[in-house]
Amino acid sequence: MKASKSAQEKLLALQALDSSLIQLDHKARNLPVAKLLDDKTVAHASARDLCVAAETEKSDIKHELSKSEIDVEQVVSRIEKDEKRLASGLGTPKELEQLQHELASLAKRRAELEEIELEVMVRIDALDQRINSLAAERDALHTEVTALAKEKETALDEINRAKNATIADREQLSKEVEPDLLALYEKIRAGADGIGAARLHAGACQGCNLSINAADLARITALPDDEVVRCEECRRILVRI
Ligand SMILES: [Zn+2]
Repeated sequence: MKASKSAQEKLLALQALDSSLIQLDHKARNLPVAKLLDDKTVAHASARDLCVAAETEKSDIKHELSKSEIDVEQVVSRIEKDEKRLASGLGTPKELEQLQHELASLAKRRAELEEIELEVMVRIDALDQRINSLAAERDALHTEVTALAKEKETALDEINRAKNATIADREQLSKEVEPDLLALYEKIRAGADGIGAARLHAGACQGCNLSINAADLARITALPDDEVVRCEECRRILVRI
């Protein structure tokens, strides 16, 4: 294939734009902020779930607390009733003695129930502390996630702007390259990691970075300027400048 030296040079400029597009895509896919955002999003979800679990546990324990409060109230009212009866002195001595026994066992029961109640309250206190610390962690992570999402969006916007400008430049430049040469370039590029044309520099192809032997180099150099040369190794268009 024949193509003017300037057309071949334009092909290199086109290649530079295409390589930029590949780099921009790579950058967009590998933003450090995106990785950080993913990590923080997972941490936020985990803190939120733990917080919900602790709240549920607290509500179960509160239910337990009100049950034990009712138990204590029942015993207290029974004690009051028995004490009134005892104070009234009504009943046989045997009945009064039974009342005293009952009061003693009720007092023991009351002490046990109050101890249970206290234990439950201590557990609620500990849970409250856990909930507070989890909620603080969750809220801090939420703030971080929001800021990182914004940072990621800004970074992607910037990359997209650069991409759009490059695409516009590419479109303009590709119109200036002969269709045959452009088609060959596109065909090679599609099957060669996005590189269709490379410069011959210091006796090496900059596409595959392999040196060209002296005999081939002498033959290539002797070819007319408008001869389109292909690298023997990678088959890319080799532009001699
Ligand atoms: Zn090569």
